[in-house]
Amino acid sequence: DNKINRLEVKQDKRRMKSKRKTEEHAAFNGVFDSFTLVNLNKILSKGIINEFVGIISAGKEANVYYALGEEDVPLAVKIYKIDPQNTKWMKNYIIGDPRFKKIGTSTHKIIYTWCKKEFKNLTQMKRHDILVPTPLLSRDNILVMEFIGEENGTPAKRLKDIDELVNPIEEMNYILDQISKMYLNAHLVHGDLSEFNILYFKGKQIIIDVSQAVSIYHINAPVYLQRDIKNVLNYFSKFIDSKHVPDVKAVFEKILKNV
Ligand code: ADP
Repeated sequence: DNKINRLEVKQDKRRMKSKRKTEEHAAFNGVFDSFTLVNLNKILSKGIINEFVGIISAGKEANVYYALGEEDVPLAVKIYKIDPQNTKWMKNYIIGDPRFKKIGTSTHKIIYTWCKKEFKNLTQMKRHDILVPTPLLSRDNILVMEFIGEENGTPAKRLKDIDELVNPIEEMNYILDQISKMYLNAHLVHGDLSEFNILYFKGKQIIIDVSQAVSIYHINAPVYLQRDIKNVLNYFSKFIDSKHVPDVKAVFEKILKNV
């Protein structure tokens, strides 16, 4: 009996190992195409990234890795997948943005533009005091930025994964103020803002995933702005008495009044 048990344990371990291998493979699959590998090697050889430590997130458009840079400074490395499926909807957030006039038609070119767009958006937001990860480098489909999380490599939680907010009204007003600053000072609309794209770390809210953010002159900017406000108010209304939650339209109009 004991023997059979041990055998089963052994088999389980082997199965787990093989499952992990498959997962690892799936995580890298479609991301590290030959172009990306060449680029990664260049970034690695320059010493910007010393070591890839692990994967933080595997998504449809990109994977995010935890890596160590010079002097072991923690980094988040976002690598966009060169996947033609993604370029169709991405185009809607690129075409009409005065910053990107020539985008090309190939999947590579569009994804590279998308990655550069996230880098530019992060830079523009940072310059106007919006709390986002500091962008460090973008090269083709690879974006290197500040890692938000514990020193041991545990990434910050998303707002969605927080059970309790210390001061929800204050937190809500802070995000509404960030949306307003983004529009009025950085001249950008996030376009996908919600509790999924806000990290919560050491009592601070950090906005992430800004690749789709558009210029306020983009034809859909007002629609995206209202959607962002709505998502944020929806989330905070779970923690706040409705009489303290402002109306979407009121917030929207207040921002536009200040243009
Ligand atoms: P996607 O578009 O694939 O969702 P995100 O930019 O939202 O890409 O990143 C996916 C996940 O990776 C986030 O939900 C977050 O958990 C983690 N992440 C992204 N950027 C950072 C960062 N700078 N520091 C720590 N974790 C990050």
